[in-house]
Amino acid sequence: MTSEPEAPRPPDPPRLRSELRWRDAPSEDGALLVDPSTGREFALSRAQAVLLQTFAEHGDIRRTAAIAGERLDLDIDESWLLELLAAVAALGLLAEPGVDAEQLSERQRLARRRHYEDLRAEKLRALLPRLRELPYYARTLDDSSSGLARLPVLDKASVRAHFAEFLPEAMPAGEIRWLSTSGTTGERQQVVRSMVDWDASQPYTWALNRTIEAARGERFCRLTTPFCDGSECHLRGASRAERTRGPRLSLDGGFDIAALPPARLEQMAAELREHEPAYVLADPSYLAMFADQALRRRLPLPRLRFVVTAYELCSALHRRILERVFECPVFDAYGATEYGALAVQCEAGRYHVNPESFVTELRDDEAGDDARELLVTTLDKQLMPLLRYATGDLVRPADAPCTCAWSETDTFASLEGRAVDSVRAPDGRRLAAAAVDRVVAPAARGLVSYCLVQRAEALYRLEYLPAEDFVEASMPAVAAALRAALGPGARVQLTRCRELLPASSGKFRLARADLRSR
Ligand SMILES: [Zn+2]
Repeated sequence: MTSEPEAPRPPDPPRLRSELRWRDAPSEDGALLVDPSTGREFALSRAQAVLLQTFAEHGDIRRTAAIAGERLDLDIDESWLLELLAAVAALGLLAEPGVDAEQLSERQRLARRRHYEDLRAEKLRALLPRLRELPYYARTLDDSSSGLARLPVLDKASVRAHFAEFLPEAMPAGEIRWLSTSGTTGERQQVVRSMVDWDASQPYTWALNRTIEAARGERFCRLTTPFCDGSECHLRGASRAERTRGPRLSLDGGFDIAALPPARLEQMAAELREHEPAYVLADPSYLAMFADQALRRRLPLPRLRFVVTAYELCSALHRRILERVFECPVFDAYGATEYGALAVQCEAGRYHVNPESFVTELRDDEAGDDARELLVTTLDKQLMPLLRYATGDLVRPADAPCTCAWSETDTFASLEGRAVDSVRAPDGRRLAAAAVDRVVAPAARGLVSYCLVQRAEALYRLEYLPAEDFVEASMPAVAAALRAALGPGARVQLTRCRELLPASSGKFRLARADLRSR
């Protein structure tokens, strides 16, 4: 018995893969569509949202166009709707047999990555003519703009030497702040910041972490270097009112943060409790040193939703203390006075770069390790825009997309610290501060912080500050791990310290070379 071949079935009319879910009710400004299976969000205009909503209700192209047209008081061309559905299909939001969640997620990742690449390319095209209006770039940029990678790298010394040439003839409207970066006298750099620019990039960076974004606008405490940044000076003895600005209370830390007198320790703990912060934004060394002393004195501390660390490299030891004392997650962020927060750690621990406001490139400096120097181009800064700015900061690129909803962004597996905060192994290899931390932190039991000082080609001294739960017997293993990482010939001395002091910039360093003093 033979069977007739089946006639090809007409293709199924398009339908949505799942019910529409909106982050907030669609408004005049548009709506954020959430894909429940991948957790991603897609920004739609109001018209797109109404079209899609109507399509979800009626499932028929012609009826959708007619009904949505009435709702929007517009003549809706069916081709618009088909275009929208094609875009929605490209994002994997239409039902398709045989497509699993992983494939959908990857498709969305690539579609969004293309979207951001196009957006950045467009912003960069608009940026170059504006740059040429500034004397410095007029001098250094020729007219042939053939791709970012061919444009000159901007180093910090050039900005210091030619600061005035980066300024426009007239300042843009809105609040302007004059600041300077931290660093030793030779490193300090003037910075001018437009708060309009700041507001254009900063919220986007923080939004890359949902937990942080959810606390936006809430009360928080800040603990950072006692350094005066030109806009605010945390002078010892400033009153609490003077240190409070909007929802933020700046705690009165000092260079002696590792050994605070009891009265100041108690005052800081009391201020932290009384301000009732949702979170603390802190330099990790400062907060870890404070937290360890508060723990020793059994001072009650507030319950926080999370801690954000920034300003300097966060050691795994700092993180361990903060998680233990505050019983909450710790998210690290990366930024600089020159351009603000650029990347933030997501819940999965990766650093995600703000995809709207920055282009980042990694420069190989052939130092024999896997750390790369970060070059930053700012896209949303109208005042003092930076093109391929050599930050002096090292990062390690991530080798696979993150598992979180922001996997289309550029990501770093880790921050590696400032290039100057590195030591060299006797064979010449560089160990960046984070590489040193990956050796010290797993072996140590109960350290608050430390600094590995290279004193000669093969001689190193680990200065360490014991924590409340210090286990002295773990220290020989720390020395052995360092010797193994540094390689043949390395000698490692251990020095227990009652206090660690920051550099004159106010920042602590986990590693440094000091080859002059023997
Ligand atoms: Zn992530």
